[in-house]
Amino acid sequence: MRFAEAPDEVLARLATLRERDAPTHGGHVLSYVYDSGVPALDEVAAAAIRLMQPVNGLDPTTFGSVAALERDLVAFTRDLLGGGQAGDGEAVGTVTSGGTESCLLAVKTARDAWLAARGLAPGAARPRLVAPTTAHAAFHKAAHYFGLELDLVPVRPDGAVAAEAVAGRLGTDGDGGPDDVALVVVSAPSYPHAALDPVADVAAAAAAQGVPVHVDACIGGMALPFWPDLPDWDLRVPGVTSLSVDLHKYGYAPKGVSVLLHRGRDRQRGQYFATTRWPGYPVVNPTMLGSRSGGPLAAAWAITQVLGRDGLATLADRSRQATEALRDAVGQIEGLRVVGHPTGPLLAVASDDAAGAERRVDPHVWADAVTAHGWVLQAQPSHRQPDGTVLPHTTHLTVTPVTASVLDELVPALVAAADEVRGTPRPAPDAALGRLAATGAPPTPPSSQTAATLLAGLGLDTSRIGDDGPGVGPMAPLLAAVEALPAPTAERLLVELLARLVEPR
Ligand SMILES: *Cc1c(COP(=O)(O)O)cnc(C)c1O
Repeated sequence: MRFAEAPDEVLARLATLRERDAPTHGGHVLSYVYDSGVPALDEVAAAAIRLMQPVNGLDPTTFGSVAALERDLVAFTRDLLGGGQAGDGEAVGTVTSGGTESCLLAVKTARDAWLAARGLAPGAARPRLVAPTTAHAAFHKAAHYFGLELDLVPVRPDGAVAAEAVAGRLGTDGDGGPDDVALVVVSAPSYPHAALDPVADVAAAAAAQGVPVHVDACIGGMALPFWPDLPDWDLRVPGVTSLSVDLHKYGYAPKGVSVLLHRGRDRQRGQYFATTRWPGYPVVNPTMLGSRSGGPLAAAWAITQVLGRDGLATLADRSRQATEALRDAVGQIEGLRVVGHPTGPLLAVASDDAAGAERRVDPHVWADAVTAHGWVLQAQPSHRQPDGTVLPHTTHLTVTPVTASVLDELVPALVAAADEVRGTPRPAPDAALGRLAATGAPPTPPSSQTAATLLAGLGLDTSRIGDDGPGVGPMAPLLAAVEALPAPTAERLLVELLARLVEPR
């Protein structure tokens, strides 16, 4: 076999590309990556992936290892998340490729159950998906893909939804309201503000109406079981019918592994897609993909076996202590405030409006200043809720076990960055984009060329992004523009940005 290029040289090029990435380890990136701080876990994960590399997870009858690992992982998460009671309460589950796929499948399963209960064909009706505005965007995607009406419930300024506000959307209150809710979603906790939604009260109200409830514990599911003094929020709560938990977050596995648990076999069977109506092999897929990697499954399995519950608890404690230290430290910074009562290893930081304009710190200007100190935080735009109230723009920090070991560098950087930008307002959106925003959404979606021109006006030259290191540059002006634009226009520009990024150069 003659190679086009020697494997070593190809790998050397890959290594060079990887060097330019944001660091995945060491706690300098406070989103996207979940560093346990325990190198042995990365080693065992890599070795497990290597062993699983040639396997096709499509067929667990041919590759029995896939079934064995999946059984173990479902058992581990089910027991951790209160789904282990025998009988009606017992949960069954599936390993998926990530949180988004778990959320998509929870919604698809609920939609299909809703249609089946009414003898309706898919497309014959558009049931509602009721969720707080803070529910993960994966549920917007699910509603879009599967034809549900997304009914968003405003949250309070602290980021948590009031149970009565959700209950108020459930319709059949005896007055013959519509019984068109296929699923209610609550978060444990929410990604934007780490708010733990009132799972038990929502589930009680929903159960009284016969409406199923999904708990999105994608980010919290492997950590909250070890948080002290929480009300029940998982499958222990009657009325909770499904729950998602990501192993590639606080399970410290490489990306590509999550678990979706359902209470009751019959409910879960609706998640599957099966067909014998083609000339090929009978297709039976529990998830969206056909052929799939067994690698992330094996890695997550190996890590959970090595850590056990106690190991996970130790790591969760480290994240919790670091989160509390950061909450207190940010709370001390004049001009900033932590939003609400973060429950779990994450938090959101907003501007402290009680401070005068001179003393206020804008969270996005601050995040850009923190980046200059070598730490990457995540900017979140402000959000106008359906009732007109506005959730302010914030900066998000996801805290991992390794964060505990770098607090003495991180906290001074957060403080110094705030000192540098105190009193500096966030930038006004670019004038051209401001004009576009003022005229409302363009009649037709902008062409790729128009979108690229607008992006260039924002300082985003799509042919050069990434050449000078990770990121697209300062986040404050970009987020200000995103907020100023009508959502469809902003979304179209971001599509253009990401699409051009992978066009062959
Ligand atoms: C991360 C996350 C998701 C989506 O998960 P992906 O793994 O990124 O697809 C869903 N819900 C919550 C609360 C999350 O934090």
